[in-house]
Amino acid sequence: MDIRTRTAHAGLCSDEHTGAVSTPIYQSATFRHPGVGQSTGFDYSRTANPTRSVLEETLASLEGGDKAFAFSSGMAAITAVLSIFSKGDHIIVSDDLYGGTYRLFETVFKRFGITASYVDTSRPDAVLGAVTVNTKAVFIETPTNPMMKITDIRAIAGISHESNALLIVDNTFMTPYLQRPIHCGADIVVHSGTKYLGGHNDVLSGIIVCARKELSERIGFIQNATGGVLSPFDSWLLLRGIKTLAIRMDRAEENAQRVSDALLAHPLVTGVYYPGRLTSASDSTHRSQASGYGAMLSFRVKTRAIAERLIQKVRVISFAESLGGVESLITFPMVQTHADIPAAMREKIGITDTLLRLSVGIESSDDIIEDLKQALEQ
Ligand SMILES: *Cc1c(COP(=O)(O)O)cnc(C)c1O
Repeated sequence: MDIRTRTAHAGLCSDEHTGAVSTPIYQSATFRHPGVGQSTGFDYSRTANPTRSVLEETLASLEGGDKAFAFSSGMAAITAVLSIFSKGDHIIVSDDLYGGTYRLFETVFKRFGITASYVDTSRPDAVLGAVTVNTKAVFIETPTNPMMKITDIRAIAGISHESNALLIVDNTFMTPYLQRPIHCGADIVVHSGTKYLGGHNDVLSGIIVCARKELSERIGFIQNATGGVLSPFDSWLLLRGIKTLAIRMDRAEENAQRVSDALLAHPLVTGVYYPGRLTSASDSTHRSQASGYGAMLSFRVKTRAIAERLIQKVRVISFAESLGGVESLITFPMVQTHADIPAAMREKIGITDTLLRLSVGIESSDDIIEDLKQALEQ
């Protein structure tokens, strides 16, 4: 069945008793046992909750994985993934990635003896060159955040597997509607469900999808042991968001194309980074693994003063962290999402005081473009 149908039917219920169409919110911490040694399949909601289970089954199916696991935030999900590694293990990480993921590696897991090397994963030779005898995983984002660089998932899966390492892909920007990394060889997919999956800037959540049973068992154990699970109500909100994922992504992408054209044509804008405007080599890689360009873009303005003025003067767009909601949001990566990345590394990647990141929403593209113009020109 087409993914548009499958997303629209997220959580479509088949309750024999009532005929309910929407999955109920099972707001129950614990479940009665029918007898000694017997279970309904649900014992305690940290281990499994019926509403969360429907969400998890939906995401496993959408990503083409074995099983999925829902957490209370994207960072809780990434923490659970990293918890399968041990002291002495080494992980290769995209150098241009979500600042919170960098912070987690450097300030938490490093203390537990898990080390990370940051490389430009858009270059397979750089990934190969960073492999050591202790390398147990490669962790990538594609497109990257915020520079929108493309990593070849199949090529990196090949290098990872030859090195006996797992490939982990943060698929937050693309969602399973546009990109399904497991089909390209990834072993684990993670999401901040807070973004496009939820889609309305009203719920925090994180998702892990495992390609194989053996990995599902390890992650399932960690989820229950560490306990950062998604609540029944938030699981339901995510299911509701996923129902409109396809239509929201299509509309936001259409808007992003127009907005990127308008920004490129503006004299105060010196560069636009949008997956829909890549060099032909990156474009063919992206098109080989994704069916669209999404709605995240970054752009550079002439001076820091223009950047600061713009974020204060926007009226349709909100100056706020996060992305992937129906409302357009603008962020200043250097001082917000990527503040925890060391200045030298930021500089090298291009995250400077003239770079802004825009999450294009589903409003009228004319209103978004007009808003950017008036804010740039004040
Ligand atoms: C937001 C984000 C995260 C973290 O998710 P939270 O839900 O905020 O904890 C991780 N990766 C990417 C790419 C993100 O955009």
